[in-house]
Amino acid sequence: MIPIVLVGAAGRMGRAVEEAARASADVAIRSHVDRAAPVAALAGGANPGGEAGVWSEDASAVVRSGDVVIEFSVPSVCRAVAGLCAERGAALVSGTTGLSPDDEAAVRTAARRTPVVRSANFSLGIAALHRALDAVLEALPAGWDVEIVERHHRHKADSPSGTALALARRALARRGLGEDALVKGRSGRGAGRPGTEIGIHSVRGGSWVGEHAILFAGDGESIELRHVAESRAAFAAGAIAAARWVSGAPPGLYSLDDVLGSR
Ligand code: NAD
Repeated sequence: MIPIVLVGAAGRMGRAVEEAARASADVAIRSHVDRAAPVAALAGGANPGGEAGVWSEDASAVVRSGDVVIEFSVPSVCRAVAGLCAERGAALVSGTTGLSPDDEAAVRTAARRTPVVRSANFSLGIAALHRALDAVLEALPAGWDVEIVERHHRHKADSPSGTALALARRALARRGLGEDALVKGRSGRGAGRPGTEIGIHSVRGGSWVGEHAILFAGDGESIELRHVAESRAAFAAGAIAAARWVSGAPPGLYSLDDVLGSR
């Protein structure tokens, strides 16, 4: 049985991971961490997840050697929890997006001492979309324009989405372009669209779980690749698969591609 500490347990993703874990015989959520945990749970009363396991507001009170921490919360917590996992000898599966370069560096430092799987999107469909992006770019002349349109619910804290950024950065790398070729939204007047840029457009509203479309536009024709997440269950299933994979892995920073490859 893999012991899980779930950080961000009261959030949208935390609740989806809780549900996926309940359906998996080989993982058990030992501790839930969230500053918004219901008072009754913190006092040792009824557990809102309905499963055995303590609730705490503070990950440092519960993370132990041998645990796998699954974290979907906010960047400051992601960074702190990565350090804690390195210190205590716990593995980490982390999906929080919107990390600053400093936060990313802190996670990389932690990954020198403990195994960490980081992904802006734990769904199998987005992993396939990354590969499809490679294949389409490979097949097209460099003159085709690439734009990414993403939509998410009205509560999403960061934009563009981490997934849109990851897709755009993959396209930049394939085209030999730098970060300065990334355009986040367009407004105003200019001399048209230079061929040497990749645009991302963020739409926010309602309860959309997450949608990413990659548009490839040539002269007189276009291609569109689209992924729609209909519920958070797809992300949660990927996070549980990553938890299984990372348990016992050597220290290092891994991606969902590593999890889906052979080991
Ligand atoms: P949410 O706001 O519903 O949940 C975040 C939880 O973190 C909340 O319950 C909040 O109380 C808790 N939290 C915040 N600060 C805390 C602190 N200091 N200590 C303890 N708990 C704290 O958000 P969400 O929709 O669940 O998304 C969480 C993150 O996961 C976001 O960055 C989002 O973009 C990302 N996300 C990633 C994927 C993926 O597949 N990688 C999928 C969906 C969402």
